[in-house]
Amino acid sequence: MSYMEAFETIVKDQLARVKRLAETSELTDYSKLDKIIIGTIDGDGIGPIIMDSCRKILEKLLADELAAGKIEIREIPGLTLENRIAKMETVPADVLAAIKECHVLLKGPTTTPGKGDNLPNIESANVTLRRELDLFANVRPVVIPEKNIDWIFYRENTEGEYALGSRGVDINDDISIDFKVTTTLGTTRLARAAFEYAKANGNKNVSIVTKANIMKKTDGKFLSLCYDVARDYPEIKTDDWYVDIMAANLVNDQINSNFNVVILPNLYGDIITDEAAQIQGGVGTAGSANVGGRYAMFEAIHGSAPRMIADGIGEYANPSSISRAAVMMLRHIGYSEKAAQLEDALDKAQKALDLPGDGTGNTASDFTDFVTENL
Ligand code: NAD
Repeated sequence: MSYMEAFETIVKDQLARVKRLAETSELTDYSKLDKIIIGTIDGDGIGPIIMDSCRKILEKLLADELAAGKIEIREIPGLTLENRIAKMETVPADVLAAIKECHVLLKGPTTTPGKGDNLPNIESANVTLRRELDLFANVRPVVIPEKNIDWIFYRENTEGEYALGSRGVDINDDISIDFKVTTTLGTTRLARAAFEYAKANGNKNVSIVTKANIMKKTDGKFLSLCYDVARDYPEIKTDDWYVDIMAANLVNDQINSNFNVVILPNLYGDIITDEAAQIQGGVGTAGSANVGGRYAMFEAIHGSAPRMIADGIGEYANPSSISRAAVMMLRHIGYSEKAAQLEDALDKAQKALDLPGDGTGNTASDFTDFVTENL
């Protein structure tokens, strides 16, 4: 295919995607379901270790609901790097079909082969799942009470640089071009979710983060659409920042507690939320939600930590992050009391245990025992 044809196909596909999005507006009402199916996916590397911990904790926490058949925890095998490579599918079709039978998902990290890994070029499973399940908002809270920090990040999850991440074009040996996509629908629904959260939680401040001075079309559109939505929430203080200064603001103790709700396009959201999690105590401590209308997927914000497995210290992986994601999942499906109960046990574990992930301190199974005993 010539590069002009490749460009044309990409544009046509994006036009078709936007049309599809506009036609589908499913919304799951968990309170109306006889049984909520929670799909659990182990993933790669330290994934099976932290997921095993999280499943055991949930089985104890939700023992009554599981026994009564109000909740089912369903293990979904097959989202492993080996199986994905064997089938040469980012998310194998049978795994995707099993995922789509669940209502919410708790997912361990999955490995994405990089340039130097000598593995087939498979796209990120997460990017595929976010797109397939239309999980448009990536929601990541970061809370540090002693610094008065209460941040929640709303990262756009299906567009930006990631919509066409594996479809860039090598024009010739000298030039490669990638693409960045912003759509009205994609941005507006994210902004609306963020402002609704801000309103429901006492009109918290909203900050929009872009690089609209450089990315004039895509980020420019993102910024102006967020301000369009802001007009429906006059009681909420809204401002905007460029991503570079926002990265600095978060580590500036003079002003960082002024920020509450932060809206970001996909790539900046990816970077800024890892920075924020590190400020909270490391990527092992933060959970995240990928929310759409029909499905929602909850996961740790870190990756599969293959180096920990290679170094033989996988058992020292910290399951807090995936357990914090489970708290968000319980809130999402309307089990707020169970969420608070789990959160309390996790806070106690954070104070009592030490899991730096370097082969010293406590293990994942110490964590599981401590949390289940403190539920
Ligand atoms: P990573 O987050 O997997 O690990 C970086 C380092 O952070 C580890 O070496 C370890 O020291 C520490 N760490 C991470 N999680 C920890 C935990 N639970 N407990 C203790 N320490 C922990 O980042 P990476 O090495 O850049 O990525 C590895 C793989 O994970 C890549 O293939 C990447 O694509 C993938 N990834 C997947 C997801 C996902 O599935 N959501 C997210 C990010 C990265």
